[in-house]
Amino acid sequence: MQVRKLTLRKLSAMMREPFETSFGREELKELVLVEVETAAGAVGFGECVAMTGPFYSSETTETAWHILRSYLVPLLRDWEALTPADLRQLPERFKSIRGHQMAKAALEMALWDAFAAETRTPLHRLLGGTRSEIPVGISVGIQADIPALLRKIEGYLAQGFQRVKVKIKPGWDVDVIAAIRSEFGDIPLMADANSAYSLGDIDRLRRLDEHRLMMIEQPLAYDDVIDHVQLQQQLQTPICLDESIHSAADARKAIELGACRIINLKVGRVGGFAESLKLHDVCRDNGIGLWCGGMLETGIGRLHNIALTALPGFNLPGDTAPSARYFEEDLIDPAVSFSRPGFLAVEDLCGVAERVRRDRMERWTRVSEVVKPTEVK
Ligand SMILES: [Mg+2]
Repeated sequence: MQVRKLTLRKLSAMMREPFETSFGREELKELVLVEVETAAGAVGFGECVAMTGPFYSSETTETAWHILRSYLVPLLRDWEALTPADLRQLPERFKSIRGHQMAKAALEMALWDAFAAETRTPLHRLLGGTRSEIPVGISVGIQADIPALLRKIEGYLAQGFQRVKVKIKPGWDVDVIAAIRSEFGDIPLMADANSAYSLGDIDRLRRLDEHRLMMIEQPLAYDDVIDHVQLQQQLQTPICLDESIHSAADARKAIELGACRIINLKVGRVGGFAESLKLHDVCRDNGIGLWCGGMLETGIGRLHNIALTALPGFNLPGDTAPSARYFEEDLIDPAVSFSRPGFLAVEDLCGVAERVRRDRMERWTRVSEVVKPTEVK
């Protein structure tokens, strides 16, 4: 497979409802989409999960566009993939560019997707997936008050979601978790702090232990591992790392130090599928819990997450909810929806292009540019 041209698009989509975390609220979803066309005419898509502002990570839609166009695409000048092993070498090709994992992932995933389309191989099979359906959890943002949160959770449980994750921050934590336990008993429950705490909050965090959470996600700084070691030693609740882990090597080091017992893998955060496969193996070999997180993706990113989650090491329910949770209409048709309550089918999809609604993509597009690896200066 050789790349003939790429189309970069910047899109805006209206969220069904604002999603609030300790970073702020997202109402209008802005994203960069990479479309790859191969010399044989196959098409692949990759969704960049960088957000408008540098809040979850330092990357933004603008930096991703710049890095993709000026630095990553030119690296494909003489690139060719004959086997999936060539796709696994992509991080090596991109390694002269430091950081910018989300930009790398968008391009890398588009290339895997195009390879699936060109070779007529289901993407989950290319990646090594073994499962035909995956369990799904729901992530619930910070609400106006506890009764509002409880009503939301009740609705999601009725829909069949296999676990509930709530966003927490100082002042919206112990009482909130206690109220959920009191209302819904022993449901699979986890909390995501998005780095809202410090080691000074250790007593407060220890009060969560009695509520038997599955995990507390990223309680301390986004770039920290060492303080998490200290916190994990004093908490019964397993710590799950999200923002701190950018590669399989980061995961190995965090595990060796004892900073976490679970990892939330986001493909965009680690630079793509190839690095995700390595990280998956590190977790499996060390008996570490693993699940696939979400970044409010459109259906394109969702289908990619589902394909990856078919791998056997993903042993906890992920965050890949049906599209309708976040969007009125999706970039793909049919949208991602439950195959039975709380589960998504891993479909034999040879790339997502056959599901993309080009009319909607055009309607959502604000800027686009066609680039050819051979012509980029
Ligand atoms: Mg998180």
